[in-house]
Amino acid sequence: MDHVLSLKCLICGKEYHPDEVEYVCPDHGHEGILDVQYDYDLIGRRISQGDLLHNTNRTIWRYKPLLPVQPDSPVPPLTVGWTPLYRADRLAAELGLKHLWVKDDGRQPTASFKDRASAVAIVKAREKGAEIITTASTGNAAAALSGLCASIGQPNVIFVPETAPQAKIAQLLVFGSTVMLVRGTYDDAFDLCLLAAQEYGWYNRNTAYNPYMTEGKKTASYEICEQLGWQAPDRIFVSVGDGCIIGGLHKGLKDLRALGWIHRMPRLMGVQAAGSAYMAQAWANDEDVLSKPPIEAHTVADSISAGLPRDRIKAMAAVRETDGAYVQVSDEEILAAIPALARGCGVFAEPAGAAAYAGLPKAVNDGLVHPDERIVVLVTGNGLKDVVSAMKSVKGVGTRPHRVAPDLADLKRVMT
Ligand SMILES: *Cc1c(COP(=O)(O)O)cnc(C)c1O
Ligand SMILES: [Zn+2]
Repeated sequence: MDHVLSLKCLICGKEYHPDEVEYVCPDHGHEGILDVQYDYDLIGRRISQGDLLHNTNRTIWRYKPLLPVQPDSPVPPLTVGWTPLYRADRLAAELGLKHLWVKDDGRQPTASFKDRASAVAIVKAREKGAEIITTASTGNAAAALSGLCASIGQPNVIFVPETAPQAKIAQLLVFGSTVMLVRGTYDDAFDLCLLAAQEYGWYNRNTAYNPYMTEGKKTASYEICEQLGWQAPDRIFVSVGDGCIIGGLHKGLKDLRALGWIHRMPRLMGVQAAGSAYMAQAWANDEDVLSKPPIEAHTVADSISAGLPRDRIKAMAAVRETDGAYVQVSDEEILAAIPALARGCGVFAEPAGAAAYAGLPKAVNDGLVHPDERIVVLVTGNGLKDVVSAMKSVKGVGTRPHRVAPDLADLKRVMT
């Protein structure tokens, strides 16, 4: 890993050798999230845009020289990454825009964006010789770790709040994880997972604690820019809970600029549920995220429900440094966005995935978006993850199935 220079604390700026610390800055505990620093000159000699043109590996591992892993480390066999980027001309026209794309990360192996991070966690755990990997999660990170572990027969223990949607819990059980349904919130599950990892010596994948998760997530930015022929978009809309995804997108874009592969920074647009809008509030009121207290979080979009976003330092920097914005959407708008997105471009999203799209008309109405801009909406999770919300969403727009007897006469009655 000679391309990794250090792990740098986001609070004090102190830099550590990757072998010196495992997760967070010893001086700053949980808040002291570390950011991986790279030698871009070295990386630039190992990988070029020309190499990628001829690379037939259509997974995140096509970017392996940009990831914090040993060059010869084995990677899990599931196809993570290189999700489709669809042009969405009908949706664009409805919104008065000219160039809109939807990137569908519901197409990942366990049906959410989290596979990008869990794939890197698996490789790091193996490099460190871990026998058991653990994570706490609102559901998708758990399912991602669970599925990727199953692909290589890796034992793992998962902590989720007992209120996680059934489909996500089903994934864990089907993949054969040891599942702890925690009587409490995601935060309670997170804290218990940390204690357990320390007690038993398990490798910990927790978001905004393990410094390598951002690095897996940044691959989405590489893909977006490569899929657009290295013409970076003007804006990327993404939903925000803990803030690790938006921080990861930012990291990926900064990498590409450091390599000289893109020349302009897209603006990052963080979309939050109004009932879980810590980042949006902090951004609007110019509050310090290190001193702002937690809020009570309630939203239909379980994957972005976070009272105290764990990656809030990176999430704030992502929007501030790219001159983007935070947008809030109501639960009604999130639910309405599920059928709107599905009917407009054929992508079926879970509430947190549809939330990113719900933020776009909001931003257009607020005059934040120019009609000529090239815009990407990142859909982070598949609609089948939460069928209860999907059914609610169609009821909300007045779509109901027709009840029909199994004969043509009754069908004709219904058709009229
Ligand atoms: C985790 C998740 C998010 C939010 O990611 P953060 O890093 O917590 O901000 C958004 N959508 C889906 C589907 C997710 O699983
Ligand atoms: Zn520190």
